[in-house]
Amino acid sequence: MRPRLSALLDRLWEQAVRTPQRFVVLSFAAASVLLLVISVHGLVVLRDHEVQTLQQTQQLQVAGISSVLNVESERLRSVRNFAQHLIRLQMGPHAVEVDPPLQAAYAHRNDDQWQLPAPEGDAALLGVGPRLLEGMDGFYRRDEDLLPGLYVARGLSQLLSAEPVNPLVTRKLMYVSTNGFFVTYPPVPPARAAAVLRRVSNAGFLREHQPHNNPDRTLRWQIVPADDGSGDMYLTLSLPVYLHAQFRGVAISGISQRSLDAYLTNTTRKGVRSFLIDIDGHLIGASTRNVNGVEKIASVVPPSSRAATPEEMFSRGAGTIHLADGSRLMFQRIGNSNLMLVDYFSATDLLLRAASRLSAVLAASALSLAVLLWVTLQGFRKLFSHYLARGEALRELAETDALTGLANRRVFEARFAVEHNRSLREKTPMSMLMIDIDRFKRINDNWGHASGDRVLRKLADVARATVRAIDVPARIGGEEFAVLLPHTGIEEAAQAAERLRGILGQAVCEPAPDAAHKGEIRFTVSIGVSDLGADGTDNLDTMLMVADRRLYAAKNAGRNRVVSDDRVPEPVGDSVLAPAPTA
Ligand code: GH3
Ligand code: MG
Ligand code: MG
Repeated sequence: MRPRLSALLDRLWEQAVRTPQRFVVLSFAAASVLLLVISVHGLVVLRDHEVQTLQQTQQLQVAGISSVLNVESERLRSVRNFAQHLIRLQMGPHAVEVDPPLQAAYAHRNDDQWQLPAPEGDAALLGVGPRLLEGMDGFYRRDEDLLPGLYVARGLSQLLSAEPVNPLVTRKLMYVSTNGFFVTYPPVPPARAAAVLRRVSNAGFLREHQPHNNPDRTLRWQIVPADDGSGDMYLTLSLPVYLHAQFRGVAISGISQRSLDAYLTNTTRKGVRSFLIDIDGHLIGASTRNVNGVEKIASVVPPSSRAATPEEMFSRGAGTIHLADGSRLMFQRIGNSNLMLVDYFSATDLLLRAASRLSAVLAASALSLAVLLWVTLQGFRKLFSHYLARGEALRELAETDALTGLANRRVFEARFAVEHNRSLREKTPMSMLMIDIDRFKRINDNWGHASGDRVLRKLADVARATVRAIDVPARIGGEEFAVLLPHTGIEEAAQAAERLRGILGQAVCEPAPDAAHKGEIRFTVSIGVSDLGADGTDNLDTMLMVADRRLYAAKNAGRNRVVSDDRVPEPVGDSVLAPAPTA
């Protein structure tokens, strides 16, 4: 296992060294993927965190609504207790004497509409006569109870009017007597008395609290349209008022649904829709808008969440339902009332909220990664072009002859091997020239070594310019040069050699500045030619040997000539016996 791993690492490393740019890009790609994975993980963590935050918010909202309702029910209880206390007092032996205003109101008790005047702004006591009470469910006139009842209602009127006004919650308080009169705060105009009682009757407040319907005399909840024509709805709480076993009336308190909506709107987090629902799923309040009391939760959440029924939510009390589309319903019952707060939020909203927290970090990371990649690649490019240039220079240094810039012997051998193979494979001829400057020692002697070097360079330049692109001129010794001629037979090679010899013979070389003699240097060369496969030539050495032999023959025959076979050339007088400074 271990060796295999290290072998794999070695291979990867080799690959990296071979293609470093790709390696860098891949490394950054890996880093990006890692960043992506971390981001996704961060997103999930933040999303869960968001859900927790939403849960806490909902708990706070529930606590808020619950405390409003508690205060409301406590207040209602105290109104009810006060009413019962007053009724008991007034019906007992310590009853207070009936005064003239009560007498006056009592005198009008059979009018369709009558009242007990209250100070301006106070809760008015309004009554309805027997004719209009006829047919209103739950009301029955008993004259013997009326006067004590009026006394009680007046006492309550003072209590209700003393209620502090809560600017956040619009509420109403009311005491309704089964005897057909009521006090309500805020007050209503006397002309509306019958309408108010009719609504109380129609809403079933009296029927609900009849001893057989509510034997335990407990608090009841109800959603009732406002009686002021505003279209508002009221979330009402009501308690029965008793004198011993006798049902005498109902204390009602109501909270405006709009103020609940406003409360939800103000406290709900962005992207979340909050609904207050009752046990039947009716909307009692919504954070997004005002509700009209007939809508149900099922109509405002996506179809996929309809499976989340109010029954299920109320039986669980609190929790979260994951819907098929990734959105969630988070619900919590308000105390032990039959009300529930339901938050709906979509998966997208949730992710967006999480992403908005993460986006700055993410963007910064992505940006720095991109910048880093760019900088690294730039650095790499610089570094590599630098090393490439260095490498190129080193290669040239290793492969070329420093003085003349021609191929050196090593490269010549390598090129020979390649061309030799090709020649064998393609059965094409190949030749070689061996060039030696005539009487070079004398040039050195007469002009100096530096000028001799200039002659060598001149020869190299001329050779380079004269041969074909496929030929390989090289300096293989001090003043010995060779040219490899691929695709060339001996005759062609001899012609090329002859041409080269001719051109070199015309060439003129400036001596070095510090030369002993001024004036131009002229020189000649002798060239031996060999071709592959003739006279036992089958490798570099034998080809060099044959060419060298013919070069030697050329020298012997008087120099400044080309010899391309082994016939003994006719000696001529040494044409370049003594290249001497001209003037
Ligand atoms: P030959 O016609 O028989 O060739 O006579 P030669 O004087 O040219 O004799 P040979 O070819 O043996 O001469 C070689 C001389 O070349 C010896 C050496 O001084 C000179 N030489 C070798 N390498 C260099 C070099 O790099 N620069 C210079 N200036 N001279 C060199
Ligand atoms: Mg020589
Ligand atoms: Mg020589």
